[in-house]
Amino acid sequence: MSITQKEITLWIERYAEAVRAHVDELNKMDAAIGDGDYGASILRGVNAATALIPSLEGLSIGGTLKKIGMKMMSTMGGTSGPLTGTLYVKMGSAAGDKLAITLAEFAAAFKAGVEGVMALGKAEVGDKTMIDSLYPAAEALVAAGAQQVSFKDGSAKATQAAKRGYETTADLVARKGRSSYVGERGRGAIDPGAYSAYLLMKAFEEVVGQEADLKSHSPFSNSHL
Ligand code: ADP
Ligand code: MG
Repeated sequence: MSITQKEITLWIERYAEAVRAHVDELNKMDAAIGDGDYGASILRGVNAATALIPSLEGLSIGGTLKKIGMKMMSTMGGTSGPLTGTLYVKMGSAAGDKLAITLAEFAAAFKAGVEGVMALGKAEVGDKTMIDSLYPAAEALVAAGAQQVSFKDGSAKATQAAKRGYETTADLVARKGRSSYVGERGRGAIDPGAYSAYLLMKAFEEVVGQEADLKSHSPFSNSHL
């Protein structure tokens, strides 16, 4: 089973809807430990990215993700702009010019994206950033890909890992970014970037969790033989 560029753009559109629904919450989360602009910033990024999607028809999965990432980078600003953009750009580079990818290929590309964010931001798991949910989600996807489970099951595992990941950020003291300035006072607060990464995985699960729809992309499904 594989997914195509269509599911990638549906994923970003679904994530954009989730960001729109949670923008105030994301701003408040950032206000508790930072300057309160994370929701507004990611909203700008996803709005610009979804506006771009109609012009991406016919592109490969890698080409699509790279354009989306570059758009996010140029529209978001803040600390999270270059980091978020890098996730998609590096994921796109890893996915390359493929038109369809398996769960294992998707997982490898997503992991490359997360590693790109870690290389740029120098954050590790435990620093109270988006990495706390992105990294376990990537690991869950890679494990699911290796076991050759369905997109439905793999994406559900990634969502669960991202959820556990963002929940752990409440127990942490930030070591990276603006929230590191509030130190101990930030304990108890969820990191907005980590929560947003959970919304991203949940959006992916919502798009690829429909097994029946995905089967229509099988190279054999159009056969009338
Ligand atoms: P700021 O307002 O400080 O410029 P944003 O509000 O745009 O930053 O983004 C804040 C989010 O960025 C945090 O919730 C955190 O998840 C993420 N972040 C900050 N620093 C890093 C880093 N070094 N690596 C990964 N993510 C980071
Ligand atoms: Mg901020």
